[in-house]
Amino acid sequence: MVWRRANRKGRRSSLRPNETGTRIGPASPSSIASSMSVSRIREVMDLAWKYPEAIHLEVGEPDFPTPEHVVEAAHEAARAGLTRYAPNAGLPELREALAEKVSTRNGYEAHPEQVVVTQGGIEALYLVLSGMLEPGDEVLLPDPAWPNFRMIAHLLGARVLPYPLAAEGDFLPRLDDLERLVTPRTRAILVNSPSNPLGTVLPRELVEKLLAFARERGLWFISDEVYDEIVYDDTFTSAGSVADPEDRLVSIYSFSKVYAMTGWRVGYLVGPPDMATLLTGMQEPIISCVNTPAQMAALAALTGPQDVVREMSESYRSRRDELLEVLHRGGLPSSQPSGAFYVWTDISGTGIPSMEFAKSLIERERVAVAPGEAFGELGEGYVRLSLASSREDLLDGASRLVRFAHSQGNARH
Ligand code: PLP
Repeated sequence: MVWRRANRKGRRSSLRPNETGTRIGPASPSSIASSMSVSRIREVMDLAWKYPEAIHLEVGEPDFPTPEHVVEAAHEAARAGLTRYAPNAGLPELREALAEKVSTRNGYEAHPEQVVVTQGGIEALYLVLSGMLEPGDEVLLPDPAWPNFRMIAHLLGARVLPYPLAAEGDFLPRLDDLERLVTPRTRAILVNSPSNPLGTVLPRELVEKLLAFARERGLWFISDEVYDEIVYDDTFTSAGSVADPEDRLVSIYSFSKVYAMTGWRVGYLVGPPDMATLLTGMQEPIISCVNTPAQMAALAALTGPQDVVREMSESYRSRRDELLEVLHRGGLPSSQPSGAFYVWTDISGTGIPSMEFAKSLIERERVAVAPGEAFGELGEGYVRLSLASSREDLLDGASRLVRFAHSQGNARH
C-alpha cells in the first residue's frame, strides 16, 4: 500500500510514512513499525523459492524431524485434555525440569521461579528487551549478529550500539570497543554464544570480563544461548555459570535448534527473581501463555533420551568438516564453527557486495546462501552457509559456490 501526500507544487507523490518519519493520517501505521527494515535473508529465500530445484543453504533450521517421542507427547497431551490456558510463566513441571536442566547442563543453580517459558527464544528476547529498555535507551548488540536483535530494538524505539566482531579480533568482542561505545543512556549488552552467524563460542575468561564490564556500569547482561547444546568442542561456557550473584543477567534458551523443534515455538529465559516476575506479568498481554501441548512436548524433549541431540550435533560436525574442505580447496576462507550450525565464508575476494553475490548465485547456480550484510555492517564481504542442510545439498551447493566465486574472479584463488 502507498500513502499519498501532496508535494510543494501541489502534485500527489507516493510516500511511505517511513520516508517522512511522521504519521500521515489517523489510520496510518506507526512510523516505528513501518520503518523497520525487513529481513534480507527472507528476500533471498523468496527469490530462491522461484526455482524449485534450488539448493537451500540460507535457512537456519535443522533438516531433521522432531524426535518421535516428542511428537507423541504432544498427541497424548492433547488427547488427555491438556488443551487449556497454562500459567503465564509456563507449566510448573516444565519450569522445574528447566531449572534442573540449567543446573546439570549449563552449570548454574536457578529456582523454577526464575524460569519463564516463552514462545521461542525470539519472544524471550522481545520480552526481556521490552522489560529493560525505554524509547531512546541504548543497547549494545554484536555486529554481525542475528538480525532480529536489531529489529526488536527498533520496534522498542531503542538505539543500537553495534559492537564489532571482526576477523582481526577472531570475531570476538573487545572490551576497548565496548568502553568506547558505552554512554550514560546504555542499559544493556547482549551477547550470543554460540554465535549465529559466526559459530564462535566465547571463551570462559572473556565471558567473565564481559560480565564484569556490565556489572561495573550497572548494565543488564543478556546472554543468548539458544545453541547451547550444539557445540563441537568443550569450550562453551554459560554466562550463568561464571556470573556473580549481583549480576543483572538474563539467559535465553530455546527448544528450536537443539531438539529440531522450530515450529513448536517453545523457548525460555532464566533471570533474577524480580525480573522473572515482571516478565511473567508481561506475558499476559503478549501471548498469555505458550501452547500447552507444545509445552508437554518440550518436557518430553528435556526428560527423554538425549542421544537425539548428540546425533544431530555429530551430523553437523561431519558436514562442517566436509564443507570446509571444499571451501578451503576452492580458496574461500571460512570460519570453523565451535558451535551452532553455520559457516561464515569470506567472499570479499570476488569484490561483489554480499547481497548481489547471493542473488547472482541463485540466478546462475541455483544456490541460496544468507548474505553477510543481512547481519550488520561488518557482515559485508561474507556469506553464511547453514550446516542444517543435507550433506548432499551442502557439498553440491559448496562446489557451485566455489565455481561461481571463481567465475567472478575470486582474488584468493
Ligand atoms: N537467537 C538466535 C541467535 C537465533 O539464531 C535464533 C533463531 O534463529 C533465536 C534466538 C530464536 O529462535 P526461536 O525463536 O526459534 O527459539
